[in-house]
Amino acid sequence: MSFLQNNEQSSPELRIKAGWLNSAEIQRSSHFEPRAKNEAINLLVVHNISLPPGQFGGGHITNFFLGKLDPNIDPYFEDIYNIRVSAHCLIKRDGHIVQYVSFNDKAWHAGVSVYQGREKCNDFSIGIELEGTDDIPYTKAQYQQLSNLSQCLITTYPALKNNIVGHSDIAPGRKTDPGEAFDWQHFQTLLDTKKL
Ligand SMILES: [Zn+2]
Repeated sequence: MSFLQNNEQSSPELRIKAGWLNSAEIQRSSHFEPRAKNEAINLLVVHNISLPPGQFGGGHITNFFLGKLDPNIDPYFEDIYNIRVSAHCLIKRDGHIVQYVSFNDKAWHAGVSVYQGREKCNDFSIGIELEGTDDIPYTKAQYQQLSNLSQCLITTYPALKNNIVGHSDIAPGRKTDPGEAFDWQHFQTLLDTKKL
C-alpha cells in the first residue's frame, strides 16, 4: 500500500534512453518501421485493447504484437493472428508497462487516421494501449502509469504536451477506443499535478 501511495505522489523512475524505457518490460516487436529523418514526434494516441475482447490477462496482447498469437487458443484469434500491428507500449490492468517498439520508430497503431489535417498518424505519433474496453472502467493503476509515462514522454518530446488524443479522435467512425470509459478529465488532472 505504501508503494501505491508513493506512486501517486511522485513519478517512479521512468526514463527514456535511445527510444526505450529504462524500467519497463521490453518485448521487441518486428512490427515497426523507421521514422523519416528529422520527423518530429508531436502526437500521443491513447488506445485500448483486450484479447479475447473483454477478457484481461493472459499475455495474448503481447503475443499479438509480436506476431506470435496462437490461432487455436480462441476462435477470435483465427481472424486476427496474422495481422501485423503494434503499439509502442501497453499498460496492463495492474499498471505494468510493456514496450514493443522504440519511440524513435513508427509503431503500427493508428491505421488510416488524420490529425489536424495530417494523415498517417503513425508517422509522427506515439501509441499507448491500455488493456481494457470502451465501457469497463480503467484501473487506478492504469491512470497513474499512463500519466507517469506521458510525463516521461513529454519530457523527451515536449510537443506531445498539448497533443494527446484518443484513437477515436483521429479515426472517427472507424475506431471508438479508448471509449466512454476513459476519464480524460481525471487523466488531465493527474498530468497537471505533475507540474510539467
Ligand atoms: Zn486503437
